[in-house]
Amino acid sequence: MAETMPVIFFGHGNPMNALQTNAYTKAWAAIGATIPRPKAVLSISAHWYIARTAVTAMQSPKTIHDFGGFPQELYEVEYPAPGNPALANRIKELLSLHDADLNDQWGLDHGTWSVLRHLYPKADIPVVQLSIDRTKPASFHYEIGKKLAPLREEGVLIIGSGNIVHNLRAYAWSQPLAAPFDWAVRFEDRVRELLLAEDDDPLISYETLGNDAMLSIPTPDHYLPLLYVIACRKDGEMLSFPVEGMEGGSISMLAVKIGKD
Ligand code: ZN
Repeated sequence: MAETMPVIFFGHGNPMNALQTNAYTKAWAAIGATIPRPKAVLSISAHWYIARTAVTAMQSPKTIHDFGGFPQELYEVEYPAPGNPALANRIKELLSLHDADLNDQWGLDHGTWSVLRHLYPKADIPVVQLSIDRTKPASFHYEIGKKLAPLREEGVLIIGSGNIVHNLRAYAWSQPLAAPFDWAVRFEDRVRELLLAEDDDPLISYETLGNDAMLSIPTPDHYLPLLYVIACRKDGEMLSFPVEGMEGGSISMLAVKIGKD
């Protein structure tokens, strides 16, 4: 029987991480080198935040450069991983009642490729993306995550890509080493405690976590991928933080890995 694959949330941070070699990207590469090699990757990226649940079903997803104002070399990055239409169909089947669309327009956005470029630099593992339906409450995303969990037994690496703390208004663009805001540190600590305690309910109802949560999650897009990831956790299953750090004062680079080391 195939090994149960881990499930991992990545804090992707600045798109320039795609090109850089730094503590975060080295840690991502180390994860790719140590976990069992997946048959395919399913990525839930903050950057495909639309009014539907959809799954990419094309044979060759294009590399999407969904940002503005970055150096030309970032626009030249290609991540030519193949798609996996059979996996897209399998996901549609698992989500049956939620009626996910098979999509042939999107591709791989930078939430996916800025990280995968370091995990799997050869781009030789098929990748499928699932959108985040922005019209739905947080509990819906957790439910969808539960439905995806069987893919772990089918050799699929499920990743969520966002940032647990993501406040661009407070972000010091030119000072990655700026001291983190107190509210950002407090909120990340609270999330860690809840994750380690397997206390998912407050993480789903994150609005109840007070002002620190409001400042850390001004919009839900970068937080919600975490809910898909934790929904795939089995009771008592190991959870670890293989990447840590706060960038520019208000972006948490914390990664959350579910599954044994
Ligand atoms: Zn982002």
